[in-house]
Amino acid sequence: MEFIETGRISDHEKLKKEVPLGLLELLSIPGVGPKKAKLFYERLGVKSIGDLEEAARKGMLAGLPGVGAKTEEKILKGILLWRKSRERRSLGRILPLAQEIINRLKESPSVRRISPAGSLRRMKDTVKDLDILVVSTEPMDVMERFVSFPFVMEVLGMGPTKSSILTKDAFQIDLRVVPEESFGAALQYFTGSKNHNIHLRQIAVKRGLKVSEYGVFKESSNEKIAGYTEEEVYEALGLVWIPPELREDRGEIEAALEGRLPKLLELSDIKGDLHIHSKWSDGAHTVEELIQKAIEKGYKYIAITDHSKSLGVARGLDEERLLSQIEEIRSIQQRYNSIKIFAGIEVDILQDGSLDLPNEILSKLDIVIASVHSGFNMSQEEMTHRICKALSNPYVDILGHPTGRLLEERNGYPVDIMTVIQKAREEGVALEINAYPQRLDLNDVNAKIAKESGVKLAINTDAHTFGQLDFMVFGVATARRGWIEKEDVINAWEVDELIKWLNS
Ligand SMILES: [Zn+2]
Ligand SMILES: [Zn+2]
Repeated sequence: MEFIETGRISDHEKLKKEVPLGLLELLSIPGVGPKKAKLFYERLGVKSIGDLEEAARKGMLAGLPGVGAKTEEKILKGILLWRKSRERRSLGRILPLAQEIINRLKESPSVRRISPAGSLRRMKDTVKDLDILVVSTEPMDVMERFVSFPFVMEVLGMGPTKSSILTKDAFQIDLRVVPEESFGAALQYFTGSKNHNIHLRQIAVKRGLKVSEYGVFKESSNEKIAGYTEEEVYEALGLVWIPPELREDRGEIEAALEGRLPKLLELSDIKGDLHIHSKWSDGAHTVEELIQKAIEKGYKYIAITDHSKSLGVARGLDEERLLSQIEEIRSIQQRYNSIKIFAGIEVDILQDGSLDLPNEILSKLDIVIASVHSGFNMSQEEMTHRICKALSNPYVDILGHPTGRLLEERNGYPVDIMTVIQKAREEGVALEINAYPQRLDLNDVNAKIAKESGVKLAINTDAHTFGQLDFMVFGVATARRGWIEKEDVINAWEVDELIKWLNS
């Protein structure tokens, strides 16, 4: 799991034995391990990130045993990053919350239409706040329900058209009640993005029109010509409706004008999941349990891809155990004909770019994902070289979570992603969009570049439990934001097509 891959749990365990519990938050700061946290506590009385920041600003860290000016600088930078990342919440955390709120508000018989707006509707990987729009015959009834939800910490404001609350997690949610005849215009306006809307307004001006949250109006007569639905707002501007995920002013308006918007990938296009961990390493379920679950989900194929031996904490497989697992998968396959089970591995890319298992054994597998899980501390040049070397191994099919980022936690390792994309194209390796909500790696922008470079993608959940198999929705959202279509995604293909690609 993520914890194992980051080593965070073992750090926590170590620290818990040595220092008071309050210090655990210090481990959120890159560059502060259990030893340093203990040192700062004992020498300087540092008990919180605030204390740590103050001490670092005063230059009190440098000079302690094993701590130089560089480390102090790194810690200060880490604190800034930690603060910044706290501001935005991952889509994986906020989407379920939004769904819950909407479901609860729908219980009010006065609610006629309701939708999230803002960056959540655009399915951005992280969101700063949440906007919900509603049409209701009894606005105050909806508002009262909203501000009395159990997760509300503070009501920032409440009125018949807008109420704002902070959740117990200090996350702001705004609920707006809008007139039914402007719902489409309001939804368009509050969905954004800002840049997308600025560009739309420029188009409107050229056509002698005005766009606002109330509708599209003729500049000359103020006559309202659209606003009830989003579709008619776009149509009034001479455009087809643009899916929210594309609304970043990254060329979607031009594409809509020219009738060449992509036909975006849908969740229902996904035919299998090619990155799943079983009990053989750090997953929670047996191979057979996973297969039954995949059949329930309607998948045509799955790949079992456990960790390799160098990830000892995750009980990574050595040659012998991997051979036994392949044998088990082949024998289980004989009992299932509705689903293809690929025997795979998520093999570690070692520091020098070689793989954690020899080619002789990789050749026995159907699918090989290569991933970096450790040794992040190298230069961009070294890391790029390391990954490209792994991609040149003829048995590697997919590069797992290509940048190693963990949203709300850490940036990726330094890597020249353009060079990696080029290398993937040359070697015919697919890049993963890891659907784990903290990863969403590749991100939207890089996925778009990969597609434009002719690189195929794989959208995988990296599930360690049944529930995590549902993360696929986040990966598909990221792909859609990257303009990805069905044919770009190897696990949206029919099984024969995929097998052909794997063998080529
Ligand atoms: Zn991994
Ligand atoms: Zn994995």
